[in-house]
Amino acid sequence: MKAIITTPGTKGSVRLGAISEPSGTGMVQGADGKPGAEVEVEVVEVGVCGTDLEIANDGYGAPPEARDSLVLGHENLGRVVSVPDGVDLKTGQLVVATVRRPCPERCPPCAAGQSDDCLTGNYTERGIKGRDGYMAERYMESGDYLIPLPSTLTKVGVLMEPSSIVEKGLIQAFSIQRGRMPWEPKQALVCGAGAVGLLAAIFLRLRDLEVNLVAKADPGSPAYKVAQAVGASLLDATEHPVSKLGQELGHIDIIFEATGASSVAMDAIAATGHNGVCCLSSVTAGTRTLTVDADSLNLDMVLGNKLVFGTVNANRRHFEAAARMLGAAVRKWPGVMEQIVTRRVAAEQFADAFTRQPDDIKTVITFSGG
Ligand SMILES: [Zn+2]
Ligand SMILES: [Zn+2]
Repeated sequence: MKAIITTPGTKGSVRLGAISEPSGTGMVQGADGKPGAEVEVEVVEVGVCGTDLEIANDGYGAPPEARDSLVLGHENLGRVVSVPDGVDLKTGQLVVATVRRPCPERCPPCAAGQSDDCLTGNYTERGIKGRDGYMAERYMESGDYLIPLPSTLTKVGVLMEPSSIVEKGLIQAFSIQRGRMPWEPKQALVCGAGAVGLLAAIFLRLRDLEVNLVAKADPGSPAYKVAQAVGASLLDATEHPVSKLGQELGHIDIIFEATGASSVAMDAIAATGHNGVCCLSSVTAGTRTLTVDADSLNLDMVLGNKLVFGTVNANRRHFEAAARMLGAAVRKWPGVMEQIVTRRVAAEQFADAFTRQPDDIKTVITFSGG
């Protein structure tokens, strides 16, 4: 069957290749780490994100053990083809699979079903680290890692993986804040208008916050149209640098940083208001250094009771929460969520999907299951 494969570490090695059918490999493990019943899933479509581009071009990622090639793709949407006895899924059911799998040592977070908080770092991730991804016609997976989606999410279900990361960050921000003080946030700032930034703006609007979105994006761009449609205020990053937004906007209760730039992350910490929270989600794999005004940053954090935390990946519970948020967004703003998927490209034209275009928000590669 067709699959999009790369050799991590070899630039320009992304290719459409043939791999063997996944059926009956006996390789599928359940959440308990034991070989388990295999659900077969036909892939509908898979989103491309910065991580895929880094694996393709910058030597990120790792193939499965004893192999040099990796099937790409982690932002998946599929349909169940066959279900073994004892698994509560039906043939034809729309599903999304989680990405990370627990470490072999079963550290305490992994043992508790929270491999997103793995302590050993020996976790694997489908399509990224040590396990084949979802850019193939079919895959096998344990029902433990498959989340059923309602058919109302058919057109936007491919946004589930980035949605799960955003929703995890927001759930944690709210629960930590409410664990330390009475907290009724009013104003939010989102940095970055990629898929993650837009989803953060949308999920914060669903929580009835005033949302400002600061980004380097053309006012006529699809990203700005989506932000406008959900009632977020748009700020051009060149005229409104994040470092000035603390004064300009007044008190900011929550900042969600998703620009991919560590300098903006530092500015976001400084812009966070008194008793506020700053959630950092950018993966910055470079080696940039920066001079910061350490005394005033520290003093400000201490006197302002500020909280800064980082968030990565997401577990099953966050995917389930993300499905509820996506569903609510589809009902509240009909036709808007679909606009986040700006291009759909057939697997044969995969190279187009790996080439960024100015108006791209989320590019998706489609497979036969669609
Ligand atoms: Zn991604
Ligand atoms: Zn672990």
